Amino acid sequence: MPTIFTKIINGEIPCFKVAEDENFLAFLDINPNAKGHTLCIPKKEVNKILDLDEETYVQLMLFSRKVGKALEKTVDCKRVGMSVIGLEVPHVHVHLIPLNEMKEATFQHKVKLSNEELAELAEAIGAKVE
Ligand code: AMP
Repeated sequence: MPTIFTKIINGEIPCFKVAEDENFLAFLDINPNAKGHTLCIPKKEVNKILDLDEETYVQLMLFSRKVGKALEKTVDCKRVGMSVIGLEVPHVHVHLIPLNEMKEATFQHKVKLSNEELAELAEAIGAKVE
């Protein structure tokens, strides 16, 4: 069965899209640790990051760097943290989390944003992706 992220890639489930190219997609996390929390995923459905082929692994990191830099320019934060962690969705995803306090990296602290705020945010970050 396809993962929820593959369903997002295929347009079967909506997302707040930040950026996309032929092989990767970035979209806002629906239950964010902090404002701007973004996920970067390969379109290729692979469960664990260390199982990616080298080329996809490197390209995912370069894509995440590009999106992370745009995020840093958009959301007020001390830095953007990157993390590959979690057991919920069996589809590789890099978390990009704007950090002002370390609790935002713990996945215990969550923020609520309206759909309007999420849509505006995704567009604002996406507009800065170079
Ligand atoms: P984990 O596998 O533990 O890293 O968790 C998966 C992450 O994906 C969590 O941060 C969820 O909030 C996020 N997530 C799950 N479903 C969706 C969705 N439909 N759209 C955006 N983010 C999602």
